[in-house]
Amino acid sequence: MKDARRQTIVDLSHPLGPQTAAFPGDPPPAIQILDTATNPTSDQKRHMNCSAIATSLHCGTHMDAPFHFFPDGRRIDQVPLDRCVGPTLLVRLPFETHASIGREHLEPYESQLREARRIVINTRWHHRWGAADYFTQHPVITEAAARFLVECGTLLVGVDIPSVDRAPYAAHLELLGNDVLIVENLTNLDAVVGDVFHLIATPLAISGRDGSPVRAVAVT
Ligand SMILES: [Zn+2]
Repeated sequence: MKDARRQTIVDLSHPLGPQTAAFPGDPPPAIQILDTATNPTSDQKRHMNCSAIATSLHCGTHMDAPFHFFPDGRRIDQVPLDRCVGPTLLVRLPFETHASIGREHLEPYESQLREARRIVINTRWHHRWGAADYFTQHPVITEAAARFLVECGTLLVGVDIPSVDRAPYAAHLELLGNDVLIVENLTNLDAVVGDVFHLIATPLAISGRDGSPVRAVAVT
């Protein structure tokens, strides 16, 4: 039996706040301070720290639901949580040599992928987080690679890039059109050791919408 005391949790998520770089064209997250526990203005009212957040659902580390591209697709609050938690294959494809992640880069992992049914790709692009080219020069997953992931029965694809592809979004369409969940803007993947880890990346149950921030972690 596994000794729970030797469990390590690696945080794969970026902090979410006004400092978080948003996808070009999207507003950055805005935090509104509704009340503060310091310097209460009256004895009559209980003061506390209380805030509100307004954010694109695709800012920072987040999940895309099929509804992001398909009007009839599954909404984020309809995502079965057992798809978001479980054994996940970690594939390391450094961006220096794989600016386009093709089917040929994933085929060597087919048997492991069919078993785990979740995959996270460490392109090491997360090291460019905050750089001017983070949103414009990132690697992409090709349509053929996305189709291969679908063929392998993949439930979830996680990446450390801001988007799995660019317009006209062939990989998004292939994955989301086959009910495969996408997690984007993962980070800290170099800290995950081994080829398979236990992923937890559950979205908020935002009613009827297209995505959600996630607190993605690897339990190893
Ligand atoms: Zn997204």
